[in-house]
Amino acid sequence: MIRMTLVAALAALVQTGSHAQDTARPAVVLTDEGRAVHFSGMLFDGHNDLPWELRESGNSSFDQVDIAKNQPHQHTDIPRLKRGGVKAQFWSVYVSADTMLTGDALLQTMQQIDIVDQMLKRYPQTFEFASSAAEIERIVKSGKIASMMGVEGGHSIEGSLGNLRRLYDRGCRYMTLTHSKNLSWADSATDEEKHGGLTDFGKEVVREMNRLGMLVDLSHVSPAVMHQAIDVSSAPVIFSHSSALAINDHARNVPDDVLKRMPDNGGVVMVNFFSKFVIPTAQRNENEDAPGTIHDVVDHIHHIATVAGVDHVGIGSDFDGVPRLPAQLEDVSTYPLITQELLNRGYTKPDIHKILGGNVLRALRGAEKVAKR
Ligand SMILES: [Zn+2]
Repeated sequence: MIRMTLVAALAALVQTGSHAQDTARPAVVLTDEGRAVHFSGMLFDGHNDLPWELRESGNSSFDQVDIAKNQPHQHTDIPRLKRGGVKAQFWSVYVSADTMLTGDALLQTMQQIDIVDQMLKRYPQTFEFASSAAEIERIVKSGKIASMMGVEGGHSIEGSLGNLRRLYDRGCRYMTLTHSKNLSWADSATDEEKHGGLTDFGKEVVREMNRLGMLVDLSHVSPAVMHQAIDVSSAPVIFSHSSALAINDHARNVPDDVLKRMPDNGGVVMVNFFSKFVIPTAQRNENEDAPGTIHDVVDHIHHIATVAGVDHVGIGSDFDGVPRLPAQLEDVSTYPLITQELLNRGYTKPDIHKILGGNVLRALRGAEKVAKR
C-alpha cells in the first residue's frame, strides 16, 4: 500500500492517457495457448489493497461501491477478476503506520477485516473465505475465488502477541513485519535503521507466527530484518509484494543475497507491479514518472527465477494500493498477459503454474506443517 498524493494521482491520470509503451519491446498479444495455460493454472496473488480502497473512497460500503459492476476508478472489481483468471487472493487488511501515534491500529485492522467479511457475505457466488492451503484448493475447484487475509505491518498488533493470535483467529494468514516506518521491534526498509534488524521481541513475534502457522511476510522490512527473520523462522517466509533490487535499487526491493537464501528456506518472492519499484534505475533516472511496461515486471520475475529459482517466485500485484502501473498491467484483468510473456520467454507450463500460485501454496502448506509440530 502506497499513500497516493494529489500530485501522484494527477501524474497517474496523465500517464493513463498517454499509453506509454516500451518502444524497444512490443505489446504482448494473448494467444489461445497463453489463455489455456493461464486459466488451467491457479493464480494466487499475494497482495491486493481493495479493502483500503473501499475504506478511502467507498466509505467502507459495498452499497456505495458495488464491485459486481465495473468500477473503473479502481483496479479491482468482480468482472475484471474473472477476466484476469484470479483463483485465490490475499486481501490486505492494511492500516496506516500512523496508527502507532493514534493508538488504534488493532481497532482499524479489525474494521478492515470486517470489510473483507462483508465482501464475502455480499458476493457468496464469487468469493469464499479460506483459512488453509487445503481450503484454497477446495474453493478453487468449486470455481470461486479463495479469499485469504494478510496483515500489512506489525504495528497492527500494538506490541502484543495476544493481538497477533487474535488476528490469526480472525483469519489472517500472513503478517508483513513492518510497513513504511520502524516499529519498536523491527526496522523498515524505508526508515532510518534503528535496531539493526529485529529486537528480541521481534524474534519472538516470528517464532509465534511459526507456532500459529501464519506466514512471515518480509515485504517492506530492512535487509537486516529479512536476513534475521530467515535465520529465526523455521517455516518458509514470503515477500507478499516485492521486486528485485538488482534491477531497480529501490530500498524496498529484495537484494540478491536474500534471494539466494530462498531455496534453503522454501520461501517465495511475489513480484510487485508498482512502476516506482519496477522500472530499472537507469530508465527511472531519465524519467522519474515513467510507468514502464509489462516487460519490466516480467524482467523482475525472470531475475528472481534465475537467482532464487523458479520454485521461489510469485505474483503480488499491489493492485488498488499503488498510484501508477506499467502498460498492459493496469488492473486485475491483465494477469493472462504475464502468462503469455512467460511463454514467449520459453517458460514451461508447469513452471508458469508454479509462478502463478503453486509456489505460494507450497509455502503456506510448509508453514502449516511447522505449526503442527
Ligand atoms: Zn505495501
